[in-house]
Amino acid sequence: MIMEASKDTYPMEFGAMLKAEHDVIYEIVIMPGTVQGDHHTIMWMGNKPIDFSVVGSVHSHPSGVIIPSDADLHMFSNTGAIHMIVGFPYRETDYKFFNRLGKPIEVGVIGGHQLQ
Ligand SMILES: [Zn+2]
Repeated sequence: MIMEASKDTYPMEFGAMLKAEHDVIYEIVIMPGTVQGDHHTIMWMGNKPIDFSVVGSVHSHPSGVIIPSDADLHMFSNTGAIHMIVGFPYRETDYKFFNRLGKPIEVGVIGGHQLQ
């Protein structure tokens, strides 16, 4: 679903928050204040806490380079423990997870249908 959304918004970035329950991410929430520009997605965090079940974020890198930018690192530090970046061309394996410090972490993916 994230890959589909990323493809739909390409070449713009796609951005959303990850929600989890019992350590399983089950939902993505596209923020009302998310600005999708051609340079970078800006997550709107003015009114937090948004939701206590929000555990992190996901956004796409149309460049295909799956490395957090300085802006990403700043955003990560404010928005939870798990951050997913997906990269063009958005195949099933074109993603990485990072912690709030921008260090790569391993997160199991159960299957796309779990993220509805
Ligand atoms: Zn980014």
